[in-house]
Amino acid sequence: MAANAPAQALLRMRGIEKSFGVVPILKGIDLDVAAGELVAIIGPSGSGKSTLLRCINRLEEPQAGSIHLDDVEITGKRVNLSTIRRDIGMVFQAFNLYPHFTAERNVSLALSKVRKLPAAEASERALAALEQVGLRHKAKAFPAELSGGQQQRVAIARSMAMTPKLYLFDEPTSALDPELVGEVLAVMQEMKAKGQTMVVVTHEMAFARQAADRVIFMDEGVVVEQGTPDEIFRYSVNPRLSSFLRNYR
Ligand code: ADP
Ligand code: MG
Repeated sequence: MAANAPAQALLRMRGIEKSFGVVPILKGIDLDVAAGELVAIIGPSGSGKSTLLRCINRLEEPQAGSIHLDDVEITGKRVNLSTIRRDIGMVFQAFNLYPHFTAERNVSLALSKVRKLPAAEASERALAALEQVGLRHKAKAFPAELSGGQQQRVAIARSMAMTPKLYLFDEPTSALDPELVGEVLAVMQEMKAKGQTMVVVTHEMAFARQAADRVIFMDEGVVVEQGTPDEIFRYSVNPRLSSFLRNYR
């Protein structure tokens, strides 16, 4: 590569199309995410946000287009799914913790089973990840003994412990009582401050405004607008975006 070649984005999506049956859901999505960037995706329910994230970690297979993470073509025919899942951490609306395991065990499980780390090392890394989300003191607690916000922080720690290159968040605070949303968003802000690369589907407009480097507005399977938080929240005159944002005022 030439010394002055522009930095290549970590995640590169080109012309992504996805239909379910005959219904087109993603209609040609192009999106780049640079290393260290936090990209927020906003848009009405049903616009294809979750489907897009699911294409990125190959929970769904697009019918057209390509997705690259670093040098790996995620959409490649012979791609190793376990490599993708190792490099991409996903945090869902539902935390999906194992109820019969402690917080520590929930975090260390994949380190032992997938990464094959020795028990002591897996436990050490799990505790370090719990520390990062402010929950080391809850290592021995079971999910039912934790608040929803704490459970989601454990789920984030579980992703962190795997040290992925990219984090995908799909409405991570939507299942939480309003008073618990802030603690989860604070953890995500800290991750960004540490230089993590994050794609976050969210209904938290204040978060998108404060934390995102770039905001993507999706509607009906296309990227309608994208820009800095100011460009999206202050200066855009796009009628679909304006009408969407009116519901949040
Ligand atoms: P969003 O996350 O923006 O709310 P989704 O990506 O979840 O939107 O869904 C977009 C559209 O695709 C919706 O109409 C939804 O019903 C449809 N859809 C999503 N997953 C499937 C599936 N597995 N089979 C059929 N339709 C689906
Ligand atoms: Mg969704």
